[in-house]
Amino acid sequence: MIKIDGSYGEGGGQILRTSLSLSLVTGKAFQIEKIRAGRQRPGLLRQHLTAVLAAAEVGNAQIEGAALGSTSLTFKPGKIHGGEYRFSVGTAGSGTLVLQTILPALMLATEPSQVTVEGGTHNSMAPPYDFLARTFLPLLQRMGPKVDLKFQRYGFYPAGGGRFIASITPVTKLQPLDLGERSEIISRKVIAVVANLVRKIAEREVSTACDLLNWPPGCASIQTTRESVGPGNIVMVEIVSPELTAIFSAFGEVGITAEKVAASAVREAREYLVSQAAACEHLADQLLLPIALAGAGSFTAVKLNLHARTNMTVIAQFLPVRFEATEDAAFTTVRAVS
Ligand code: ATP
Repeated sequence: MIKIDGSYGEGGGQILRTSLSLSLVTGKAFQIEKIRAGRQRPGLLRQHLTAVLAAAEVGNAQIEGAALGSTSLTFKPGKIHGGEYRFSVGTAGSGTLVLQTILPALMLATEPSQVTVEGGTHNSMAPPYDFLARTFLPLLQRMGPKVDLKFQRYGFYPAGGGRFIASITPVTKLQPLDLGERSEIISRKVIAVVANLVRKIAEREVSTACDLLNWPPGCASIQTTRESVGPGNIVMVEIVSPELTAIFSAFGEVGITAEKVAASAVREAREYLVSQAAACEHLADQLLLPIALAGAGSFTAVKLNLHARTNMTVIAQFLPVRFEATEDAAFTTVRAVS
């Protein structure tokens, strides 16, 4: 039984999710203590509990400790099976993180799957749906599996209630991914989405972001929608190169001006633009698991944060792989070696 310390490094939910994903794929049981000890409200929140239950269903696992607020869990996986699934977070907790937890297992299952996920689709501190659809999944597909997403409804904090459907065609083995230095930028956009809110907010955001980036107004795009249970607003800066699509986001909040929201998305985008790296810091921690499963692969990243370094250690507890990180002036190169 693999012992996982949930307080290690970042001490967040990713330690749990990576353990669930890799336990399913490797068939190795694990026991985790001090779940999310590094967070203000430790233990399993709805998003984490949904991920545990989803993983247990996909992998016929025996589980102990799967309850809201629980700080320890034992997970003994059985056989993975693809098929039709529906998982509902029940709050605005991130549905994209729930899908990411079971995706490695379903990508390597013997049957295809269709997964309906309900909950948050656009959350701060998690990959927004657009990031999953246009940044993460296209890279994963280069490794072999086919994953199609269908968006149905926005889910913003605090109302949640969003929904999307993933159709997964698995493979027997993942191919390595090598993502070198970013080359030229072939498209750039600022996209502001307002759900059940006035269009003016989005107009101020795209105009501020384009000004700050010194991009022409033609780069701006506004989406207004009523397909959302509650109100919500996200601004995204999208930068497309031949290697990948990068997305930087920030969320509207009561008491924070549209200009401040836009500036926050621009800050991360600028850092990316001055670097020659392909992966932003969020993508970096999310690519580690797929390349480790492939047994080889590499990418360039703006930087490696504590999330990523923590994830490397958890991955190495399940798989015979180690990561090498080489820093130079323009970026950090990460390589998986088995
Ligand atoms: P907690 O740490 O409170 O348990 P959590 O369960 O959401 O929260 P984290 O360990 O913080 O888990 O992991 C969040 C994940 O979301 C990481 O993989 C991170 O890269 C990703 N993420 C966060 N913000 C963004 C963003 N703006 N764009 C893309 N991905 C993001």
